[in-house]
Formats: sequence, structure tokens, C-alpha cells
Amino acid sequence: MVLQNIFDSHAHYADSGFDADREELLEKILPENGIKYSMLAGITIPDCVESQRLAEKYEYLYCSAGIHPEHVKDLPADWLDRIRELTEYEKCRAIGEIGLDYYWHPEEKMLQKKVFTRQLELARELDLPVILHIRDAMGDAVEILQYYQPRGVMHCYNGSAETAKELLKIPDLYFSFSGVITYKNARKPVEALKILPPDRIMIETDCPWLTPEPFRHKRCDSTMIIHTAQRMAEIRNISAQEVIDITCENAKKLFHIL
Ligand SMILES: [Zn+2]
Ligand SMILES: [Zn+2]
Repeated sequence: MVLQNIFDSHAHYADSGFDADREELLEKILPENGIKYSMLAGITIPDCVESQRLAEKYEYLYCSAGIHPEHVKDLPADWLDRIRELTEYEKCRAIGEIGLDYYWHPEEKMLQKKVFTRQLELARELDLPVILHIRDAMGDAVEILQYYQPRGVMHCYNGSAETAKELLKIPDLYFSFSGVITYKNARKPVEALKILPPDRIMIETDCPWLTPEPFRHKRCDSTMIIHTAQRMAEIRNISAQEVIDITCENAKKLFHIL
């Protein structure tokens, strides 16, 4: 299956998992497989710097700047200023990924909330969208998002259809689906995808992680997104190319790509 016009709305090509073949993938394999745009989501300050370097080198790559909830400990005192500086780059189109992740470090809840809300405030001040990472923290996250009403995307959405209905009341919030939706036990994201309006959905790999079936235990790259598109197409009863076209339009709109 060959699809065109793919926007992988969440990838990590600065990750060391791509050290062996990064250039080959970005130079050749991705463009040859229909990847037209990709957003490199930032995790730490060094990772954001490296993602920016890649966006400078490859026209179809964009980047974001933010501190991921798993990396909130031992931040430098000027971390927020560093994020602000990173957003001055022309192809930096979002603050992210930011959010709450209680799976690994439930003891850091307070610190995570503080780093998250500071970055939501920065996004509002700079009028940038946010890339949201929420894991095992949906209750707290919904409360914070309802308060801030950010423009942005819930990356790798794994909440229920009920929660999605609640979050749809935030006018410019999108929901992105990853390879997780191809897994047998992916009941919740499947139910959520069924009820979302077409103009609020996106697609992503989160590569090198979250590899879709049938490659689940291999490293993921953006070319594998076609399996996620295929599964989303089945769930919504449209073609995989239609999934790709709709999600590309939505991502371009959110990240202000003309
Ligand atoms: Zn994430
Ligand atoms: Zn990610």
C-alpha cells in the first residue's frame, strides 16, 4: 500500500534509537514513502536543540520545544527562558511535549503540575499550540485543560470516549492516534476514535516507540504509519488515504503550516 501526503504529527528523530540510520531515513526513506511533513516533539532541552538542528536540515520537518513530564526533575533554574528562546526559531511551531505522567513517577505529581502549567501559560502568552502527553493522569489533566483551554493536541490519545466528549468542548483541541490503536487490547482509543468529528483527529507514530502491528516488537519509524492509518480507516469506515488527507489538513491547521 502506498499513501501520499502523510503528516506524522509526533516523532522523535533526535532519539539515539535512530543513530545508526537517521540520515538515510530522513534523506531518502521517509520522502520516498509519502511522508510529507513531520513534527518532532521535544522532550528535554538538549533533545529540542537537536530536533531544531534536524528541522533546519530537512524542509519537511518541524519541531516543538518543551519539557516532557518524565524529565521535570533537576531542571536548570532558567529552563523556562531556554524554552522561550527555542520557540524563536521559525519552524518551532508548538510547546511540547508537556503534560502529566504518573505511571513512572507518581511521587512527582506536584512538580509535574507546576512544570506543566508554567508551559501552558507560556504557550498562551506566545500564542502557540501545545502537544500534550497525558498518562495515568487523566483526571488531573482534564481539570487543568478545562481551566487553560489550550489550542493543541492530545498526543497518543488513550482516554475514553466519555473523556473525549468532555475535552471536545475545548474548541481547538485535537486527538492524535498512534500504533497503539492497532493493538488487540486497544478498546478505549477505538471507542474514542468512533465518536470524534473528522476535523479533530490526527495521526502519529511517536517513533521510535509505539510500533504498530504487525511490527510491534521492532523499532518504529514513520513509514509504519500506514498500518495505523489502515486501522483508523477500518474503524471510521473510510479509506486509509482519506484518513491521511484529513489528519494532514488538521495538523497543518494546528501548527500553522501553509
Ligand atoms: Zn508522549
Ligand atoms: Zn513522544
